[in-house]
Amino acid sequence: MSVPRKLYELPPLPYSYEALEPYISREQLRVHYEIHHKAYVDGANRILQMMDDSRRENKPFDVKAALKVLSFNIGGHLLHSIYWNSMTPPSKGGGKPGGRLGDKVVEDFGSFERFKQEFTEAALTVEGSGWAALTYCRQTGRLIVMHVEKHNNNVYPMFPILLVVDVFEHAYYIDYKNDRRKYLENWWNVVNWRFAEERYEKLLT
Ligand code: MN
Repeated sequence: MSVPRKLYELPPLPYSYEALEPYISREQLRVHYEIHHKAYVDGANRILQMMDDSRRENKPFDVKAALKVLSFNIGGHLLHSIYWNSMTPPSKGGGKPGGRLGDKVVEDFGSFERFKQEFTEAALTVEGSGWAALTYCRQTGRLIVMHVEKHNNNVYPMFPILLVVDVFEHAYYIDYKNDRRKYLENWWNVVNWRFAEERYEKLLT
């Protein structure tokens, strides 16, 4: 008898469904988390279990197809987990980063406003559905804004993500229809800089 192997779990949201109102509604957040994020967790687990079963029985599976579905779903799960923490209730969110991350943003981008403009542009222009991410490159010591297309791991393994915004339509269509720009304008009111600052501090220690 082999011990059941660990699978992915839907992490608890760090706040209530209505916590991001009026910028992200209860219903938008509920559907996004309960339906969409959960679908990535379930999708990744289905593939992992299929692989476990195939290996146990020493049966073949379509490796190419399985890895594509697996990476899409693991990517979706991990990015959503960072996304929920990249936001916080508007009473605590918005504004600018402080601490060493705040200094670093100014050093690398010239100003916070310039960073905000570039990050918004990245989120507006990612092809198809995807994400914009603020990442840190350890080799060059630079903050780098990155597109993530779909969920697939264009995220270079050496570049830890500090903050992400989800621009799949499912992240905003209930509240904003197809108006990605309006969603992004409002998103800045719930951005969680404390989270990004902590992640950055951990990289420096
Ligand atoms: Mn999403």
